[in-house]
Amino acid sequence: MLVAGAGDECSRRAIVVVGAGAAGLWAAQRAGVLLQARGERPDVLLLEKTPRAGTKILASGGTRCNLTTTLGPQSAAQLFGTEGGRFLKTAFRVLPPSAVREQFLAWGVPSVEAPLDKVFPASGSARDVRDALVRACEAAGVEMRRECPVTGVELDGNGWLVHLADGRSIGARRLLLSPGGKSYPGSGTTGDGYAWLAALGLEVIPGAPALVPLVSPAPWVHELTGLSVQDAVVRLRDTEGTILGTRERPVLFTHRGLSGPGAMDLSHVVARAMEGHDARGSGTPGFTMEVDLLPGVTREALADQLRVAAARRGAPTVVRLLAGELPRRLVETVCRQAGLDAQIRCHVLPRAKRHLLVEQLKALPVPISGTAGFDEAEVTAGGLALRELDPGTMRVKRFQDLYVFGEVVDLQGPIGGLNFQAAFSTAELAAVAAARG
Ligand SMILES: Cc1cc2nc3c(=O)[nH]c(=O)nc-3n(C[C@H](O)[C@H](O)[C@H](O)COP(=O)(O)OP(=O)(O)OC[C@H]3O[C@@H](n4cnc5c(N)ncnc54)[C@H](O)[C@@H]3O)c2cc1C
Repeated sequence: MLVAGAGDECSRRAIVVVGAGAAGLWAAQRAGVLLQARGERPDVLLLEKTPRAGTKILASGGTRCNLTTTLGPQSAAQLFGTEGGRFLKTAFRVLPPSAVREQFLAWGVPSVEAPLDKVFPASGSARDVRDALVRACEAAGVEMRRECPVTGVELDGNGWLVHLADGRSIGARRLLLSPGGKSYPGSGTTGDGYAWLAALGLEVIPGAPALVPLVSPAPWVHELTGLSVQDAVVRLRDTEGTILGTRERPVLFTHRGLSGPGAMDLSHVVARAMEGHDARGSGTPGFTMEVDLLPGVTREALADQLRVAAARRGAPTVVRLLAGELPRRLVETVCRQAGLDAQIRCHVLPRAKRHLLVEQLKALPVPISGTAGFDEAEVTAGGLALRELDPGTMRVKRFQDLYVFGEVVDLQGPIGGLNFQAAFSTAELAAVAAARG
């Protein structure tokens, strides 16, 4: 029974959702709609710590919001790794990417497809996505309280108590938690939910920054700032040369290192390894991101190309030969890394140097010393362990009427609308189960 303290709200709410991000907004509106459809009062309360709902939606996709993917449910789920993919099978079947697009279309937000399996609102405005979700909540009778930070949750005799920063508590028959991770803390997500879940005795996998730019100590990398390679294949190796991950995605050179989907998709691997070393107190581990700048050409074909050019009368310089394939500045750097002057003509290129040049083009070794950290991470790897959740409802197995979904769960996909899709799909399951009661 809810024992009201001074300022507590005496009536117990049917459903309380904590966190008005992508997941919380989706769950709240859906729960409201389902309760209304059953002829019940949509007694759904959505609590948000900050003055704004959906802050990360506004910042997403360079303010264009890559809201989902063109991939089918199975292919999309597989991108979350073996365990994550298995876990998300039901969620992505119940609310596949196509259904997210249909729902947004019904809300007046048509979407368009873009390269790399991405989907954006046709307007190119993340605000349209966020506003559609907020309007859907309003239409579904959801009560939203902004600037209402939750400080903890507790099980009581008849359900759940949600403790607020102002000292009051709210009773809930069903509690839906979607407070996000701890990436981009400036937006309000400071990992609050992990402590609540750990206090309930649930297993929480420690968070690591993911989808975050990589830092390189090499000045030659910084000098390439602003240069991108659209058709790149990247391989992350440790000091022993073991391949830790491979991606076929664009990379971008920055003033600190590497960014772009190819580099960011593998960043959690670097973050996790750094963490291990920090904990052991040992020196910083080194990594190499090998960038295949010309994945469409084999080493042999490239060597042949150089040999044929060398045999031509008036053999071109290396930089001229590769000008059509790669930016001049990049070719010059690659040559320098191979110990060559880019202006050298192909016919005076010694055999050993030709081999070295081919190696640099096929596996340019970019030294990596770490990541830009949580401040710039798009998502958090880690969170509530999957084994604590029923993948068909997102209900915490050990508790009645507690549902956890969105980024606070140990699920992490690559760049490409996959993380919003996971937020929406897991929110859908939680809302349907909670509304059913
Ligand atoms: C810059 C950037 C760009 C991104 N671009 C994309 C993209 O284009 N496509 C894509 O798929 N993903 C993208 N992501 C990732 C995506 O934003 C997340 O996967 C998604 O927002 C997760 O949704 P969520 O609702 O679980 O968490 P969040 O969106 O983080 O929402 C959690 C909410 O809970 C609130 N909250 C936290 N603590 C409390 C508390 N104590 N009390 C009350 N409320 C609380 C927070 O203020 C926040 O509003 C991007 C992320 C960033 C940072």
